[in-house]
Amino acid sequence: MVDRGNYFEKIKVVALLLVERGYADAPKLRAECKEFKCPGDRTDCCCHRLMYSQPDFNAVESHLESSCRARGFDVIFLPKFHCELNFIEQCWGFAKRLYRMKDQLSSEVVLEHNVIRSLDAMPIQSMRRFANRSLRFIDAYQKGLNGVQAAWAIKKYRGHRVLPESIMREFD
Ligand SMILES: [Zn+2]
Repeated sequence: MVDRGNYFEKIKVVALLLVERGYADAPKLRAECKEFKCPGDRTDCCCHRLMYSQPDFNAVESHLESSCRARGFDVIFLPKFHCELNFIEQCWGFAKRLYRMKDQLSSEVVLEHNVIRSLDAMPIQSMRRFANRSLRFIDAYQKGLNGVQAAWAIKKYRGHRVLPESIMREFD
């Protein structure tokens, strides 16, 4: 449940920060548009959007990013509902298939052992293949293909890391 009191306090703070940044009318704006779906490319429809449009605010690294960077990892944010871009999803699927082939009527210790064995059984070649597939999807979207076109092209150019530069001509 949303703590409305706490929420309104936070929005008041956001409005005050915007006033400090020279947006004197910020307190007159609504807190945020419904479901944060702001109209078009406006940046002054609500406090939330206006704050997000501030370059320094936008450029601040998240706690997740700074924690990972401190440990020597980079964080890559992928769009929601696009599991084809994240090859780890295909690795999970592969391991899950192996796991399902094992005995399901065992003790918790055996089940845990089966999970670990299924994950360990994942061949590095398959991981590379899945990673290449995700790279081809990224490449396809960067070249302007939609989801259906990308899926078709990924199948056709199986084994390639990138699609040919002329890929869009194949849809003319
Ligand atoms: Zn808005």
